[in-house]
Amino acid sequence: MSLSTELIHHPYRPPAEFEALAPGVHKASTVIFPSVAAMRERDWKDKSAYTYGLHGTPTTFTLEERIATLEGGRFALLTPSGLSAIALVDMALLRTGDEVLLPDNAYGPGKTLAEGELAAWGIRHRFYDPMNPADLAAQLSESTRLVWLEVPGSVTLEYPDLPALVAVVQQANDRFGHGDDPRRIVTALDNTWGAGIAFSAFESGVDVSMQALTKYPSGGADVLMGSVVTRDESLHRRLLLTHMRLGLGVGANDAEAVLRGLPSIALRYHAQDAATRELAQWMANHAAVAQVFHPALPGSPGHDHWQQHAQAAACLFSVVFRPEIGGDRVDAFCDRLRLFRLGYSWAGPISLCVPYHIPSMRTRSWPHAPHLVRFAVGLEAVEDLQADLAQALAMFN
Ligand SMILES: *Cc1c(COP(=O)(O)O)cnc(C)c1O
Repeated sequence: MSLSTELIHHPYRPPAEFEALAPGVHKASTVIFPSVAAMRERDWKDKSAYTYGLHGTPTTFTLEERIATLEGGRFALLTPSGLSAIALVDMALLRTGDEVLLPDNAYGPGKTLAEGELAAWGIRHRFYDPMNPADLAAQLSESTRLVWLEVPGSVTLEYPDLPALVAVVQQANDRFGHGDDPRRIVTALDNTWGAGIAFSAFESGVDVSMQALTKYPSGGADVLMGSVVTRDESLHRRLLLTHMRLGLGVGANDAEAVLRGLPSIALRYHAQDAATRELAQWMANHAAVAQVFHPALPGSPGHDHWQQHAQAAACLFSVVFRPEIGGDRVDAFCDRLRLFRLGYSWAGPISLCVPYHIPSMRTRSWPHAPHLVRFAVGLEAVEDLQADLAQALAMFN
């Protein structure tokens, strides 16, 4: 045999029974079968065997099982980003002529997907006011198949009454006589903020919990990944088959990075929560600040719902300045920050900030000054972050 053949078909096998604390990183497109019979018999759908890298490896199966545990669900699927997890739910559950409802303060790219591809495929969408369950009730129709929920709203962090919104959908399913059939309206929660730590998605009654693992589960700001978790086996099957047909796989090194992040997720969540509350409270007392949005602050929209529903809060808070401080000065404030870096995403080690223009992101009216800054608190010492905010705020004195 030639050297290259010998290297490829090399007979040495390391001894079996290697045990270490970290799960192995198994990389594969091809999976080897011992016989044609095994090739024909194996089923990956119930995780009883391996057939092809796209359909699961020991590394991705392990991560799926741990994410299901994190969420208190039974079945998990992994996708290459949080946004592709949203797209998977939409594409698995919606067909031409169906309607999907989204909260008006939903994660922006999920709205854009509804306005773009979903609309082009004849799937209608409507935005409801998540702070008003009666508005959701009024917008549900016989063609509604999917209701997205998000707790709290993206960027503006209003905390809705999640169990009340879920109850509205359950009542609509009864009213339309959907029973258990596949035309039943499914509730899907974007649970990136709660991350499986702040509250239980499934105890709140939702059917599907989706997360950007990019945020807390990774914790490193170096991985993109998403998950879709359910408790209902038939719903999981629908999602699983669409996931397969779309070819949504994740890389073993990325799965490993999330597996490394998971053991510290609760510690990081609670540490960042404490630091964020301290900074949000401190900002609320500053003369240049008109309003701070953080569910744990009294006076922040939905604070009562947060108090009843959640045991913790994520690392985000948003600030609206006094009305005479215009957009240019808000931008200059962000440019002056040194530890808070300008960048999207959150729940990594580095604190971040992003200025937003809220009225252009909403269909409903926005009762505050239009320019808002969203802060994501990282793992730096809170006194250093406060000093950074103070030196930038000095421009308003
Ligand atoms: C970041 C984020 C997503 C998307 O995750 P990506 O991995 O960046 O695609 C979805 N929803 C929420 C609430 C997010 O914060």
